[in-house]
Amino acid sequence: MKLEKIVSYLKQTGYVFQGSEIYGGLANTFDYGPLGSLLKDNLKRAWKKRFITESKYNVLFDSSILLNKEVWQASGHLAGFNDPLTECLSCNNRFRADHLITNYDNSINCDGWSNEKLLEFLNDKKIACPVCGKLKWSEIRQFNLMFKTNQGVIDNEANLVYLRPETAQGIFINFKNIQRTTRRKLPFGVGQVGKAFRNEITPGNFIFRTREFEQLELEFFCQPQTELKWFDYWLEEMKRFLVDLGLKKENISYHEHNEEELSHYSNKTIDILYNYPWGFDELWGIASRTDFDLKAHEVHSGVDMTYLDNETNEKYHPYVVEPSLGVERLFLAVIKDSLTEETLPDGTTRELLKIHPFLAPYQVAVFPLIRKRHQAKAEAVYELLSKELSVLYDETQTIGKRYRRQDQIGTPFAVTIDDETLANETVTVRERDTMEQITLKIDEVASYIKLKTKF
Ligand code: ATP
Repeated sequence: MKLEKIVSYLKQTGYVFQGSEIYGGLANTFDYGPLGSLLKDNLKRAWKKRFITESKYNVLFDSSILLNKEVWQASGHLAGFNDPLTECLSCNNRFRADHLITNYDNSINCDGWSNEKLLEFLNDKKIACPVCGKLKWSEIRQFNLMFKTNQGVIDNEANLVYLRPETAQGIFINFKNIQRTTRRKLPFGVGQVGKAFRNEITPGNFIFRTREFEQLELEFFCQPQTELKWFDYWLEEMKRFLVDLGLKKENISYHEHNEEELSHYSNKTIDILYNYPWGFDELWGIASRTDFDLKAHEVHSGVDMTYLDNETNEKYHPYVVEPSLGVERLFLAVIKDSLTEETLPDGTTRELLKIHPFLAPYQVAVFPLIRKRHQAKAEAVYELLSKELSVLYDETQTIGKRYRRQDQIGTPFAVTIDDETLANETVTVRERDTMEQITLKIDEVASYIKLKTKF
């Protein structure tokens, strides 16, 4: 499926809009409409349910976006959170050198390449500027991706703060607080859902790479030497989560980082790739980060970051395994695998979002068959169901058109109120994928739908 098709579907239905649209937009920013914000929320709820609530190991955390500058000094982001930037000296457009190379040949991974090696490759392979077609690349320089702003009224170096480029560091600096107050013993994990900001050189592919995005991160603290066992454990959980959400197995693959690609602090990293409209690309990363982060914060803050094992009386820095997922990348993958067009037995077609019922923005739609006659009862049913479910009320147009509209946005059930309802308190419940209809008592509907839409 083409990306344009997905983009136009999402805009037309009210899932995603161009950011700042009435002012001509702001490049690569997006606003999530009534449907999109519900879907995003459901993706986050699914992750929290699976990785926090249902996990006996993990707790939830919420750190601030603005952190003390020293955090980024310690984590290495100030010195090393860079991408290689090159400029076309003919048209002055700027690009990420490694992206120019992977666009030329997507089997090449340039992680760990020096600036010189990147430039040599661009010139040797005659990779021209995608805008003007000339081959005139500038020297490559490392561009820091952190967004800067000022805290307080004075706009100077002393008041400089950074928007967090990942949620992880807020967890690391609170390791002692969390461990002390929860009295957790290793192993345990801390998960966080929140915005991150990166001044990407070449954002693009719609919501895949933006400068503001949301992360679902888990920092799992464990005993040294057990980290690779936990790495395998969480990798399996990640796969299970994606498949349970309805992503197609054939659209998922894996890329293990080799020596050259591995970050200096990592002893194992795997990217889970999804088959986006432009090919396989990173959806979710899992990195074994050793004890790098806790040790670095200990050195910079002077605060002891060790864990005391009460049983063995040993003191050590826990090792960390980090699965880190972008909400918008999951959003795009879920939409791509759910959006279908079906030809019905009567030869007509219907656009259908076969999304997991738990993720659907609305679990059920409520329709009065004839507005004038059934409206009051339908409103009463809406009120009843909306206490327990996410419900949409619709009384416009023919019933057939109302069904199609719900199929198109992915609502798994539709409840119709008709004369039977007025006579004996029963409603027709229609299922999205099979279009089958059953009759239920009004007071059975909520529990029926809850059961069918759980994750
Ligand atoms: P990429 O190689 O695609 O730039 P990354 O390896 O830098 O990603 P991580 O630092 O591992 O990404 O971030 C963890 C996750 O956050 C990624 O797997 C992705 O889902 C998400 N993510 C990272 N950068 C962006 C972005 N600019 N826009 C949207 N999501 C992002």
